[in-house]
Amino acid sequence: MPTFRAPRGTRDLLPAERAAFGRLESIASDLAGRYGYREIETPLFEQTAVFERGVGAVTDVVEKELFLLAPRTEEKESWALRPEPTAGIVRAYVQHGMQTLPQPVKLMMTGPMFRYDRPQAGRYRQFWQFDVEAIGDPGPAVDAEIVELALRFYTEAGLGTVEVHLNSIGDAACRPAYVEELKAYFRDHVSELPATERDRLERNVLRLLDSKDPAMAALNPGAPRISDRLCGPCAEHFAAVQAHLDSLGIGFMLEPGLVRGLDYYSRTTFEFYVTGRHGQQQAIGGGGRYDGLVELLGGRPTPAIGFGLGLDRVLLALEAEDVAAPAEPVPLAVVVGADPAATAERLRVATDLRAAGLAVRADLAIRKLGKQLESAARDHAHFAVIIGDELTDGQVQLRDLEAGSQQLVPVADLARKLAAAAKSHRHGVGDG
Ligand code: AMP
Repeated sequence: MPTFRAPRGTRDLLPAERAAFGRLESIASDLAGRYGYREIETPLFEQTAVFERGVGAVTDVVEKELFLLAPRTEEKESWALRPEPTAGIVRAYVQHGMQTLPQPVKLMMTGPMFRYDRPQAGRYRQFWQFDVEAIGDPGPAVDAEIVELALRFYTEAGLGTVEVHLNSIGDAACRPAYVEELKAYFRDHVSELPATERDRLERNVLRLLDSKDPAMAALNPGAPRISDRLCGPCAEHFAAVQAHLDSLGIGFMLEPGLVRGLDYYSRTTFEFYVTGRHGQQQAIGGGGRYDGLVELLGGRPTPAIGFGLGLDRVLLALEAEDVAAPAEPVPLAVVVGADPAATAERLRVATDLRAAGLAVRADLAIRKLGKQLESAARDHAHFAVIIGDELTDGQVQLRDLEAGSQQLVPVADLARKLAAAAKSHRHGVGDG
C-alpha cells in the first residue's frame, strides 16, 4: 500500500488546533461585526483573469504562485484557486451591483487561500486569512480605523505587542514619475540584479522593492523612496492617516520600502509584525488602499481599503508566546448501563438529553458497568446517568462523578436536572 500524506505545504488541523482556529475565527467575526462589517463568502476559485487583473500579472502571486486548476476539455475558461481574498470580493461587489448600496460597503471573510510557494516554516500552500474590505470610502479616517481593528484583533487573540509598519505608495498622479526614477536607479545596478529581478525591472519595477531575493537586501536601501516624492493630495492623505493614528494613540513605524506584493495598492500600505520578529515569513498581516481595483474589475472608480491577517501565523505566534489553547469540550454526562448489551436504552436516553440541548455521550461499547464508568471519568464527564432495573419504574441513577454522590431521578426530570446542574457550575445534583 502507498503511504498517503497531506499534500506538501498543507496540513491537517487536528481537533485541538481546529479549536484554536475556531476561536480566532469567532473573535474575527465578532469583532468585525462590532465595527459594522458584514460577512461574505466567495468561491475558493475564480476565473484566472480575476487574479491576473486584480492582483497583477507581473507579481509573484500570479506569475509563480497561482494554483491553476487543470482545465477540462469542454471548458474554455481557465480557473485558479484564490491566492488572496480581495480580488474575489471586489468581483462580487461589481457583479452584484453593490455600488448602489450606501457606501462604504464593509465586508469581512475568513477562509483558506492557496499559493504555490516553496513551503517552509510559516509559509504554507493553503493558509487562512481574516480579511476585511471597506469599499467606497476614500479615507483617511477609515485607513486608521482599519489599522486599529487589526490591532484589536491581535489583542483579543492574546498576542503581546504588535508593530505597525506604514507607508504610502502614491497614486496615478505621482507614482509614474517615481517608477521611472526607480527604473533608472536599478538600471545603474543592473549587473548586481538577480535574473528574475532583471527581467522585472522594465515590467514592474516596484516588485524589486519587496523581492524575497537576498541579493536585493543590499541594493534596496539605496533606492529612491516614494514617500519623499508623493504628490500634494497623496502627501496630505498620508499625513492625515498618521494624524488619525496618533489621535487613537497607535504607534507606527514608517517603512519607505513597504510596497506590498500585489499590484492593486495605492496610497496607504501597512503590515503587522510581532515585535522583534521581522523575518521574511513573519508578517502576521498586511493590507492597504486599492483605489483603482474596482474599476480594473469592471466597476465604477471606487476608493477602497482592506487587510488580510494570516491566522496560521497568528497561531504560531500565540504558541511561541505560550498563550493557552482553548480547553477541549467535555461532556456534561455519559449514559452508562448495568446491562452491557442494552445499548438501545443508553442510546435512547442520550438522544432525548441531546435533543434537550445537552452535551451527552452514550457509552455504546458492550462492556461491564465498571469499565463504562472508568471511561466516563477519563472523559472528565461531570455526571454518569446509570441505567439499571429502576428503568422499569421510569427512573435512573444520576451520579455526580466529581462529588461522588448519587440519587434516583425520574427519567422525565433528567434533562431539567442536568441543565440546572450545568448552569450552576455543575454542582447541586445532591440537593435538588
Ligand atoms: P499578503 O497579502 O501576501 O501580505 O498576505 C497577508 C497575510 O497572510 C500575511 O501577512 C501573512 O500573515 C499571511 N500569509 C501570506 N502568505 C502566506 C503563506 N504562504 N502561508 C501562511 N501565511 C501567509
